[in-house]
Amino acid sequence: MTIRTRIAPSPTGFLHLGTARTALYSWAYARHHGGQFVMRIEDTDVARSTQDAVEQILEAMRWLGLDYDEGPFFQMQRLERYHAVAEQLIASGHAYRCWCTPEELDAMREAQRARGQKTHYDGRWRPEPGKTLPPAPADVQPVVRFRNPPDGFVNWDDLVKGPISIGNAEIDDLIILRPAPEGAPAGASALGVPTYNFAVVVDDWDMGITHVFRGDEHVNNTPWQINIFRALGAPLPEFGHCPVILGDDGQKLSKRRGAVSVTAYRDAGYLPEAMLNYLARLGWSHGDEELFTREQMVAWFDGSHLARSPAQWDPAKLAWVNAQYLKKADDARLAELTAAQLASRNVVVEPTSSLVPACALYKDRCTTVVELADWIETMFVDVAPKQDDLEAHVGETLRPALRSLRERLTEIDWDKASIAAAMKQVLAEHQLKMPQLAPAVRVLVCGRRDTPSIDAVLSLFSREVVLLRLRAV
Ligand code: GLU
Repeated sequence: MTIRTRIAPSPTGFLHLGTARTALYSWAYARHHGGQFVMRIEDTDVARSTQDAVEQILEAMRWLGLDYDEGPFFQMQRLERYHAVAEQLIASGHAYRCWCTPEELDAMREAQRARGQKTHYDGRWRPEPGKTLPPAPADVQPVVRFRNPPDGFVNWDDLVKGPISIGNAEIDDLIILRPAPEGAPAGASALGVPTYNFAVVVDDWDMGITHVFRGDEHVNNTPWQINIFRALGAPLPEFGHCPVILGDDGQKLSKRRGAVSVTAYRDAGYLPEAMLNYLARLGWSHGDEELFTREQMVAWFDGSHLARSPAQWDPAKLAWVNAQYLKKADDARLAELTAAQLASRNVVVEPTSSLVPACALYKDRCTTVVELADWIETMFVDVAPKQDDLEAHVGETLRPALRSLRERLTEIDWDKASIAAAMKQVLAEHQLKMPQLAPAVRVLVCGRRDTPSIDAVLSLFSREVVLLRLRAV
């Protein structure tokens, strides 16, 4: 059997962290088994789906390097298929049309609540042997409902949670196809729009999906889906429901509570390989390994060791992971990323000669590309040393030495060794120690007290900039 997995986001918002993690697990599982990974956009919520969100989701997948073998498929382009399958289910007695109006459904629920019952569809349009159905009202467009088995249990062995059993008595006759809402694309009005639980089954069946990983908010949908698979005589995929991701306040991550889009992390200077590594560990482990490449993850990800309890989003750990990857990253690549970051601040710099050694020098002390850009920006944009730093490190007594340094720096070859030699000469000449001179130069040239070795730092700057900033004294 070829393993086929998929990710099926709804384009009603950005690709959020939970979905990105599920995408990663689905992708890694397919890659581990030499199978295929499919991309599907579940855009049947016509009112809330946007093209912007589609593009954002695909961009996030591309950035993370989660390549798919098929798709993106769009559900709104498959309406004929859902319509045909709904007809097939009606013909086989597994589905039926229901003409209840929203007002009738409200009244039904109201009455059930008044009787202290759990609200459910009461089956008034469900055909039964010997039952006479009311005449279909001409002015109501019917929905199609799935005829859920009335009793028994739906059982499955969840890849993440283990055995799960849900009674059919808990679930009612689900709407699988409804009339197209206003604003739906042309064509939808004749065919109707499928609901999530129906479209997902038809698609997983048609696309030959063997393993479904998704968030555990879908556990309660799975019995319906399994029943529909069975009614269609379609092979059942395996299901794995991953627990939610909690924020550092212990609450589910949400738009209001810390959940930002995957691409927001790109913009905040995180590297995609760090993001993948961090997401992978949020709910999966391989021994004590904290840092691993995507190839290692593919080699190890066999669907075991998935956590059953919710993971907690930990920004400090993500920052640590990113810092590790930043240290290892190729300098030319970091120069490109830094140039893009600077460009977003209207600082236009070629990612070439000066940026590459600057990335090499600064990356060890940075957590993100944004921090790297903060350092490197000082090479191109005026710095404003803090008054405190000026008072503490650039006192009167240092001024003659700083003036000689400026003179020497005018003449020398502009490289680290020559700059170091010039500084040594100035120290000797003025009977100073490096810890007195270096902080003054740092504050004036870089606007910061602490920097990597000052000769290396100065060699990154253009001579003109250094002379200009030392002229401030
Ligand atoms: N569109 C659904 C979601 O984004 C897909 C769930 C599934 O994978 O079945 O939650």
